[in-house]
Amino acid sequence: MRIHSLIVGGGIGGLAAALALARAGHGTDLMEQAPAFDEVGAGIQLGPNVVRRLRALGLGEALEAFVARPERLCVASALTGARIASLPLAGAFEQRYGAPYFTIHRADLHGLLLAAVREQGAEQVAVHTGARIERLSTRGDERVCVASVDGRAWEGDALVGADGVWGQVRPRIWPDALPARPTGHTAFRALLRQDALPAALRSRQVDVWLAPRLHAVAYPVRGGDWLNLVVLAESPAGEAPPDARDWDQASSRAALDRATGHVGQPLRSLLDAVPAWRAWTLCDRPPLTGPQEMVDGRVALLGDAAHPMLPYLAQGAGMAIEDAVALVAQLDGRTPAEVPHALARYAQARWARNAQVQARARRNGRIFHLGGPVRWGRDLAMRFAGPALMDQPWLYAG
Ligand SMILES: Cc1cc2nc3c(=O)[nH]c(=O)nc-3n(C[C@H](O)[C@H](O)[C@H](O)COP(=O)(O)OP(=O)(O)OC[C@H]3O[C@@H](n4cnc5c(N)ncnc54)[C@H](O)[C@@H]3O)c2cc1C
Repeated sequence: MRIHSLIVGGGIGGLAAALALARAGHGTDLMEQAPAFDEVGAGIQLGPNVVRRLRALGLGEALEAFVARPERLCVASALTGARIASLPLAGAFEQRYGAPYFTIHRADLHGLLLAAVREQGAEQVAVHTGARIERLSTRGDERVCVASVDGRAWEGDALVGADGVWGQVRPRIWPDALPARPTGHTAFRALLRQDALPAALRSRQVDVWLAPRLHAVAYPVRGGDWLNLVVLAESPAGEAPPDARDWDQASSRAALDRATGHVGQPLRSLLDAVPAWRAWTLCDRPPLTGPQEMVDGRVALLGDAAHPMLPYLAQGAGMAIEDAVALVAQLDGRTPAEVPHALARYAQARWARNAQVQARARRNGRIFHLGGPVRWGRDLAMRFAGPALMDQPWLYAG
């Protein structure tokens, strides 16, 4: 029997869930607060664990038109530019994990998912924009209901909170849960046209530069035509993290300049080539402690709504997609009456992996940003055991 789901949030996670539900023959109402879907975000890396799931959702061919296939992951010093270690990606990953390592613009991935969802038809997935959900309720044990600020209401067998780090579903269902916390880390993001860069700065690989209290990552997107650059920096010790709303062009540039004063070539030239920066205040939550933090009865969370994380393992969107696929695998073949049981199994299947990714992302931040003599030890270990330390079979094969 068909299950009817309500999905709050039309980001990567919400759309992936809507698509997976439609492919499995279930019906969905998806509510997105934005009046229209726009081109937000910057680059996203997609590990083979994520590409495999996107292929299973039928997006393999469509993805090929938008992604870049980085040749390798290369780690270097941000201070001197000296190479520390590298890991082959192209070819090697496909062989090892059965799927490649891609990089893509978030807007392209979002657009692909949205187009695939719309192809299912409004009977299968009804997408409601300008629908900011503010109230949730249940009707007996059998139905869940949501209402938007403008008075529209929807009812279904299951409710999926895919409404991101500041979403409304989590605090309504778990009023005592702590909100996400600012980490004191800021992401400064930029996109550069590769053909406008000097040849020496163009890139077909993922470059990571390490320095005390910051690191930077650059990789190609949009078939390699653009270079995505992000600098991830810690606030100076004792300084309060900036409020996300405070970032405008001028303050982003000023904060970026303060954070990167000690950076050398070639990263310095790349930073100087950026016409405009956008800053993000990074927030996360402690790793999940159990399935009870992801599901309550007929309500389930997925993606950043459930487990916001630092982007230092490049897997936030990846885990949202994994959640979506796992959720639908549990709902498949179930009746509406069996939804609570299916959601409980979903949370049981997902919480520990999400918690591990959250914890490893935090740990990567500590390692990437090491200063003093201990950073020499890190670099030495990476020189000798680089590929073994950089590859993540537990993650990519999962
Ligand atoms: C600098 C940086 C780099 C990153 N790099 C990577 C990477 O390389 N790889 C990767 O996998 N991930 C990466 N991420 C993480 C990734 O972007 C997020 O984890 C992912 O986009 C989360 O998707 P989501 O659908 O869970 O949430 P969101 O994208 O936040 O979507 C939530 C949606 O819900 C809507 N919403 C919120 N409240 C309501 C409401 N009350 N009613 C209706 N709608 C609502 C919002 O408008 C939004 O559209 C990065 C993040 C950052 C900041």
